[in-house]
Amino acid sequence: MKGRRVLWLLCMAGLCLVLYTIVISRIENRTDVIFGGADGAYVSSDSVSFLDPNVFETPEPTEDIWPQIDITLSQYSMVNNDNLLSPRYAPDVDLISTTSYMMFSTAAMPYLDAMIADMQDHGFNVYVAGAYRSYSYQEKIFNGKASQIALGMGVTDYMDPRYQEAVEEAKTITAFPGGSEHQLGLAVDLMDRAYTKLIYENMSQAFFEYLDSICANYGFIKRYPTRKLLLTGWDEPWHYRYVGVDAAKFIMENGLCYEEFYAHYVPDFRY
Ligand SMILES: [Zn+2]
Repeated sequence: MKGRRVLWLLCMAGLCLVLYTIVISRIENRTDVIFGGADGAYVSSDSVSFLDPNVFETPEPTEDIWPQIDITLSQYSMVNNDNLLSPRYAPDVDLISTTSYMMFSTAAMPYLDAMIADMQDHGFNVYVAGAYRSYSYQEKIFNGKASQIALGMGVTDYMDPRYQEAVEEAKTITAFPGGSEHQLGLAVDLMDRAYTKLIYENMSQAFFEYLDSICANYGFIKRYPTRKLLLTGWDEPWHYRYVGVDAAKFIMENGLCYEEFYAHYVPDFRY
C-alpha cells in the first residue's frame, strides 16, 4: 500500500516538473505587442515574429528605362515659337527622290527613303506635302499670314501698333520665322496622294494607322498628334519628325509627345 502511494507521489512530482518546464519556456517566448489603431489596443501574443531590420533587403533602384542619348545633338533640337533657330541655321539637305523639289536632311535621308518605301510596299501612295523650309521661306509664310490678318483688321501699316496683334494671332496659326521644325530639315508632312488638303478627317486613316505603327522603326515620331494639342500647341497629325530610332521607339511606345520626352533630359525646359 505504502509503495503505491510513493509511486503516485513520484508520478505527480514528475508531472509538476514537466508542467513547470513547459510554462517557463512559454514565458520566455512571450512578447508584448501593441497593435495599431485608434485605441492603441494592447495585445499580448506569443505568436508574433519580428523581422530583423538588419536583414531587410534594400530594393534595387528602379531601372532607368529612358534611352541613353545626348540631348544636345541637333537631331533632338526643340524648335518652336519659344525656342527659335537662328536665321543662319541651314542644315545639309538633298532632294527627296520621290518628289520634284522637296528637300530633307542629307544625314537622315536614308531613314526617310526607307520609311516611304515601306509605305509604298504596303500599297500607300505617299505624298510629301512639306519638308525642309529655310528661315527666309518661313518668314515669307509668316509675314503673309500676319499681313492677311492685319488686312482683315483694316491695318495696312506695319508701324500701326495693332499690326503686333496680327503678328500674335499669326503665331497661333503658323510658326514664327525660326520656330518651325521644317527649318531643321528633319520634318516632313506626309499624306496619301489623294488628299492634298490639310483636313485630317478627310484623309485616309488607314494610311496614318500604318504610318504610326512603323514610323519609329525609321526614327520618326508623329510630332503633333491631336490628343497632345494642349502640350505642343499644334494639331498637325500629318507632321513627322526624325529624332533617331532609340528616341522614336520610346516616344511612340509610351505615347509621349516630344515636349514630354525632351523635358526628361532638360529639367528646366517649360512647355
Ligand atoms: Zn509640318
